[in-house]
Amino acid sequence: MRATCATIHLGALRENLRRVRELAPGAKVMAVVKADGYGHGLERVARALEGADAFGVASIADGQRLRAAGASQRVVVLSGPDEAGDLAELRRLKLDAVIHHETQIELLAADADPRPLRVWLKLDTGMHRLGFAPERARDVHARLRALPSVDRDISLMTHFANSDVFDDALTTHQIERFERSVSGLDGERSLSNSAGILGWPEAQGQWVRAGGALYGISVVAGKIGADFGFRPAMTLSTRLIAINRVRRGERVGYAATWEAPEDMAVGVAAIGYGDGYPRHADFGTPVLVAGTRASLIGRVSMDLVTVDLREVPSAKIGDPVVLWGRGLAVEEIAEHADTIGYELTCGVTRRVRFVED
Ligand code: PLP
Repeated sequence: MRATCATIHLGALRENLRRVRELAPGAKVMAVVKADGYGHGLERVARALEGADAFGVASIADGQRLRAAGASQRVVVLSGPDEAGDLAELRRLKLDAVIHHETQIELLAADADPRPLRVWLKLDTGMHRLGFAPERARDVHARLRALPSVDRDISLMTHFANSDVFDDALTTHQIERFERSVSGLDGERSLSNSAGILGWPEAQGQWVRAGGALYGISVVAGKIGADFGFRPAMTLSTRLIAINRVRRGERVGYAATWEAPEDMAVGVAAIGYGDGYPRHADFGTPVLVAGTRASLIGRVSMDLVTVDLREVPSAKIGDPVVLWGRGLAVEEIAEHADTIGYELTCGVTRRVRFVED
């Protein structure tokens, strides 16, 4: 069996939820589990995070998977309904809808079903992605409330563009715009994502929406999840399947981009971009070979990577190789691949074996 494996640490997920609650003691926690639980596996994440007050998903299909797996919490479809048929599905599955656009109000207004849907009104306070202009909050709130297809208990939300920069005036501005536009309106408030929870305690409202933090991943530059008391929830690992000697001046891998500075041993590990390991990881990207740090050399190929074994002279075929997770922060790998940890865990592909511990 191919050794390539993603181990999901269920205890870490539970522990990270506890840590989020500690950081946001007055708020309910919506666990954001979109993109298959940031690549960790939707159903298993939902099981581990059964203590969450709600789940946030990107599609009705994910809501359906959660219900099929037995989740009884509120489930919020973060981009809401797109077409009339979605409303029936939202009702059937008892999912909450985020309403961020005029076309969705039109769908709701044309809806004859008298069973009210639970909705979250989303305001765009500065990210300029989804949401109504804050000046329209009162008007939209009143229109939604007047619709028989909408539950009168409407929650109010916005999303931060740059909360991972803890002193950025944009977030202060977003908080102020939000507070001003919803002042006097009934309904629970939700502003913060993970970085908001960490850096903007004044913005916790009644609901925080935690994604990355629950998986132990930080998007704060230069920081890893552990710096904030989180544990990695995924370890991606494989084994060495070959050790070869190359001579000084010989080159390794596709396009012959890496040249051996001396006679040395090169390890070959069974993982590549076909598994979701980033092809753009640069030379020097760390891996752990039998627990010791070593560096990637040569191009990442579809099924294999090559590793400089000069720091691990005792390495032998079959030794475990950790690509990220326990002992090697995914944020560090992300930096070498010019991305963020979220993209790496989301990108682990179907051929990788998932195990739980
Ligand atoms: N809220 C919304 C609307 C989101 O789209 C996301 C994810 O991007 C989150 C919360 C969670 O963000 P994070 O994973 O940074 O906590």
